[in-house]
Parts: sequence; C-alpha cells; structure tokens
Amino acid sequence: MQQTITAPIVSSYAKISKTNAVFITDENIFTLHKKLFSNRKTIVLKAGEVYKTQATINSIIEQLIAFGADKTTTLIGVGGGVITDITGFAASVYMRGIAFGFVPTTLLAMVDASIGGKSGVNVGIYKNMIGNIQQPQFIINDSNFLKTLPLAEWQNGFAEIIKHACIKDAAMFKHLQQKSVQYYQSKKKELELLIAQNANIKLSIVRKDVLEKGDRKLLNFGHTLGHALENQYELSHGEAISIGMNFACKLSAQITGFKQTVQVVELLNQYGLPTNVTYNKTKVLNALLMDKKKELDKINFIVLQKIGKATIELIKLTDLEKLLQN
Ligand code: NAD
Repeated sequence: MQQTITAPIVSSYAKISKTNAVFITDENIFTLHKKLFSNRKTIVLKAGEVYKTQATINSIIEQLIAFGADKTTTLIGVGGGVITDITGFAASVYMRGIAFGFVPTTLLAMVDASIGGKSGVNVGIYKNMIGNIQQPQFIINDSNFLKTLPLAEWQNGFAEIIKHACIKDAAMFKHLQQKSVQYYQSKKKELELLIAQNANIKLSIVRKDVLEKGDRKLLNFGHTLGHALENQYELSHGEAISIGMNFACKLSAQITGFKQTVQVVELLNQYGLPTNVTYNKTKVLNALLMDKKKELDKINFIVLQKIGKATIELIKLTDLEKLLQN
C-alpha cells in the first residue's frame, strides 16, 4: 500500500483545536509548559526511553477509553521522539486507527522523529520491535520549546543533523564544521533555518519511499550498531547513533574506501557527542540478529562513499562480527 505524505509543518501551537483532541506528553514537558495543557484532556507519561513500551500503550488506551475518545478524536503528541513514537503508535491502533498530530519539543524530534510516520515501542532491549508507518495530520514546529531543552538533548539532536549531512548534504557538513551547539542556541534564525533544512532532507527522502523499500534505508546510517547498543548500555538515542556512525565510517573505509572518518568523528565530538564505548561483542551481536534490517545471514548496512553520499550494502553477519571490538 502506497502512502502519501501530506502533513503540513506549521509554526503556531495556537492552531491546535481544543475540541475533541487528547494530548499526550511526558512529566518534564508537562511541568515546564503547564499552561499549554490547561483545560485540555491530557495523558501525562513518565519521561524516558524505558517507558517506550507496550505497557505504556495499554495505559494510554485505558485513559482514552476513560476520556470517551472515539473515531473523531485527534491524538496530539507534545514531546520528544519518545512521545511522538508512542503517540503515533497508540493512534494507529486505537479503534483501528484515529487521527494524530505532533508538536515536537526536542531538536531531535523536530529534525527527525516527528517526520515520516514511523511509530513504535521497544520490547526489552529490542528497539521499535512493534510499530507502524502512518502519517500524522500535522506537525507543528515551534523552536520556542527549545528554550527549556537541556544541553545534552541539544547534542542528541545534532547526532541526527550530522547524520543527514553525512548521507545527503556535504555543504551542510562544512557549514556545521564552522559552528557549534552554543552558536545555534544563540541564533534563533540560523537555528530555524537548520531545522527546516533537516526536516526537508528527511521529508524529501521519505516522500519517495514511505515504506522503506529503497532510499529511506539511508536514514539508518549509524542506527544498526546504535540500536544494538542503545538499550543495553543505557545510552541516549543520539549518543548511541553517534557511536554507530563512527563504526559505520570504519566499515565504509573497508567496503568503499571511505577516507573521511576523522572529519566525521571530529564533527560529532565538536557537538558534544561520544564516538566510542566499550561493549560486549556477543551481547551486541545477539541484538543485531534481531535487527529489522537483517535478511537471513546478511544485514543491510548503510555505508558512506564520501561525506554527502551514502549507499546500502548487504553485509554478511560473519564479516560484521569480525569488525566488532571485544
Ligand atoms: P525524548 O523524547 O526521551 O526526550 C528527551 C528528554 O528531553 C526527555 O527527558 C524529555 O522529557 C525532555 N524534553 C523534551 N522536550 C523538552 C523541552 N522542550 N524542554 C525540556 N525538556 C524536554 O528523546 P528524543 O531524543 O527526543 O527522541 C528519541 C526517541 O526518538 C528514540 O526513542 C528514537 O528511537 C526515536 N526516533 C524516532 C524516529 C522516527 O522516525 N520515528 C527517528 C529518530 C528517533
């Protein structure tokens, strides 16, 4: 089934109708932005990746029933990528599907997680094991939310921005090399431009391949090892994929002769992101065996030809194993 993407990205929270909507957010955002939720039916979740589970979906469904939500209800996720992933999934299964929209409040969700319609929850250490691909009715990007965002979460957002630069935009990579997190924190216009540029990179890839049969896979650069590490080592999503990108660069060097690993690592470090962690090879390999990109004894891995150009390579798991550190 082909899906089209129609979700407009608009810029005013005030445009949300108060009627027949149920809001989902997490405790941190609820506390920091309380006014936004006054007189609105709101489900407040505990914050963090550990709550991105089926149990949370069940509790949302129970609260939707208690609110009397029906097929005309719109579910609105106000939060980071955890909230947008959970909201999209809950909406896609409640009464076999109701409308939903997002108000992303982290940089990571503005440039990536809110766009493209992938939703899901984790099962134990396995990331996004259950989920759906369905498009939101709207995405409202308001950079004012970022005023309360902690520094570590800004850094996490830059992991996905640097990923976009690595796979699609060498000019943006060069531009990022001249700047810093602090620069974007203090220059609202530059920040909004960067968010729009990144939202457009993701949109243009997803529009052509909603169901990830081809080029959408490129967006998984850094995510294969990243996902295997994220929940086993309690890393944030940004940290995990940053480490994953370093690994993918080294793999690229062997497969495509990629020569710019140092530049990628330096840029990730410049934006406060880690590029290495000590991990247990067996545990990580076991997680990779359940990766959604695996096909029998091979796995689709995203490698770089050069900064700004990525390709998909089918790699034997045994070859991958050799590259993993002990
Ligand atoms: P998150 O949603 O956990 O948010 C990070 C932290 O920031 C949380 O503690 C949250 O309470 C807090 N926070 C959010 N907005 C805030 C604000 N304005 N001010 C202060 N604090 C705020 O994490 P994230 O990094 O936004 O998202 C990571 C998740 O996104 C992962 O689960 C990842 O798998 C998912 N993701 C999904 C897609 C997709 O296409 N569906 C793409 C990328 C990432």
